[in-house]
Amino acid sequence: MIKKSYNLLVVGSGIVGLAHAYEAKKRGLSVAIVEQNARCTGASIRNFGFITVSGQGVRDTWRRAVHSAKVWRELADLAKIKIVHQGTWILCQRAEAVEVAQAFLKTPIGVGCAYYPKSSYKDLPNLGFFNLNSLRLEESLGLLYSPHEFRVESKEAIPQLTSYLQTEMGIDFYWETEVLSIQDSWVQTSNGQVQAARVVICPGAQLTGVAKQYIEQHNLRLCTLQMLRVKVQEGFILPGSVMTDNSLARYLGWSDLPEASALKERIAKEMPEYVKEGIHLIVVQSADGSLVVGDSHRYGTSEDVFASEQVERLIIDLLYRVLSITEHTILERWTGVYPSSSECDALIEKVSPRMRVAIVSSGTGASTAFGLAKDNFDEWLTND
Ligand SMILES: Cc1cc2nc3c(=O)[nH]c(=O)nc-3n(C[C@H](O)[C@H](O)[C@H](O)COP(=O)(O)OP(=O)(O)OC[C@H]3O[C@@H](n4cnc5c(N)ncnc54)[C@H](O)[C@@H]3O)c2cc1C
Repeated sequence: MIKKSYNLLVVGSGIVGLAHAYEAKKRGLSVAIVEQNARCTGASIRNFGFITVSGQGVRDTWRRAVHSAKVWRELADLAKIKIVHQGTWILCQRAEAVEVAQAFLKTPIGVGCAYYPKSSYKDLPNLGFFNLNSLRLEESLGLLYSPHEFRVESKEAIPQLTSYLQTEMGIDFYWETEVLSIQDSWVQTSNGQVQAARVVICPGAQLTGVAKQYIEQHNLRLCTLQMLRVKVQEGFILPGSVMTDNSLARYLGWSDLPEASALKERIAKEMPEYVKEGIHLIVVQSADGSLVVGDSHRYGTSEDVFASEQVERLIIDLLYRVLSITEHTILERWTGVYPSSSECDALIEKVSPRMRVAIVSSGTGASTAFGLAKDNFDEWLTND
C-alpha cells in the first residue's frame, strides 16, 4: 500500500515520463513515477534510440529536439549511457532529393549541416569522415550530412536512465502499479492511494486507459511500426546513422519545404508499395556490429498486431540498395506503437491546475521529450 505524498506524480515510465520526472526534480519538486508494468516495455525501448534534430518540424519540435539532445548528452555522461554513434548521412539518390537537401541548408534549421556532391566524396576522409564505403555511393548523387544526431541503445539506455533518476536523484518508482483514477490530489492505483499536488499523465500509446477522458478531443490514432535487427558481414561499420530520399520526403523539417513536392511525387510513382506502408529507411548500428533497421507505419484505431513478411522484405530490399552489404541474417523482429496526430507533433492537455497529460504524437519522443517537459514546467510552474 503506497502511503507517501509528492509534489508531482508522473504516470508512465517511458521517456516522456522520465523527462518530466527529471525536469521536475531539477526544479526542487518531490517526484514519483507510477508504472503499470514491471519495467518500461513501450515505444521508449522499442525505438532506434536515434536522437534526431535535423528533419524535425520547424517550430516547437526542432527547438525541443535541440534542447533534448543537449540534455541527453549531459545525462549520458552522468548515467554512463553509451553514445553508440554520431552524425547522420542521407543518401540522395534522386535529383529531386538533392534539391531538398540544398534548400534545407539555406533554412535556419540547416545550421551545421553540409551537402557533399559525388565529385567531393574522395575528400571526405580528409575531413575526418570514415567508413563511407559501407554506403552504396555509386547509387547516389550526393550526401546530406547532419552532425547533430547520435544514437543510444534504448533497451539499455532507458533502464540506465531510470536507475540514475532513482538512485542519484531520489525519484521514487512504483512498478507493477496501474493508475486507475485521479480525484483532486488523490491518485487511485492498483496498489492503493498516493497523494500528489500535481499529476502528469504520460501514457504513450495507452489511449484507452486513465487518460482517455482528457484527450478524446485530439482524435489520436495509433501508428504501428515494424523493426528488425540484422547481422551483416563481419567488419561492416556504418559511418553514422543512415537514411535515404524517402526520409527527406517524410520528416517535416524536409518534407514541408516547397522543394520536397517534386521528390514526393517521384517517390509516389516509383515506390508505391513503400508509400502505402509508410516505409522509409533508417539504419543504425549497435556496439556488437548488428544493425537496427526500419521502419514502416500503419495507422489505425488500435495496434496492428500482425507483422507483415512483405513489409520486412521491402525494408530489406531497400537496405541492399543503400548499403554495401553482401549478406544478412535477421536476429530480431519486433513492432512498436506510438500515438499519432495529423494536427500536432506533441500535446500538453491542461486538464486542471493540478493535472496535465503530455503526449508526443509524432513518433519523435526519444528526440524531443526533454524539451517537451521543459516547456510544460516553464509554463505550469510559473502560472501558479
Ligand atoms: C518502433 C519505434 C521506433 C521509434 N524510433 C524513434 C527514434 O529513433 N527516435 C525518436 O525520437 N523517436 C522514436 N520513436 C518514438 C518514441 O519512441 C516515442 O515517441 C516515445 O518513446 C514515447 O514515449 P512515451 O513515454 O510517451 O511512451 P512509452 O514509452 O510507451 O511509455 C508510456 C508508459 O506509460 C505506462 N502507462 C500508461 N498508462 C498507465 C497507467 N494508467 N498507469 C501506469 N502506467 C501507465 C505504459 O505502461 C508505458 O510504460 C519510435 C517509436 C517506435 C514505436
